[in-house]
Amino acid sequence: MLTKIDHLIAPDDIDKAIAVLKEANLIFTRETLKPCPFCGGKAERGQSNVRANAYFVRCICCRVTTGEFEHEASSQKAWNERTLSEPNND
Ligand SMILES: [Zn+2]
Repeated sequence: MLTKIDHLIAPDDIDKAIAVLKEANLIFTRETLKPCPFCGGKAERGQSNVRANAYFVRCICCRVTTGEFEHEASSQKAWNERTLSEPNND
């Protein structure tokens, strides 16, 4: 039986469903990364080449980086919500 999804979910409900899924890290949309809070440089996403499922965001200018997160969305969130504090570069 074929069922069209737009008959099942109203547009408003889709937005709510997406918000719930994002919150649960089940889906992820790439939002713009904010500039580096320390130097204003451009940020980039990275993934550990040592550990699986270890994502981070770092500044391509001063190399400050977030910690590693299991989900790319979490690293992005950490970066974008970062307040001015101790740099975490080593
Ligand atoms: Zn920077």
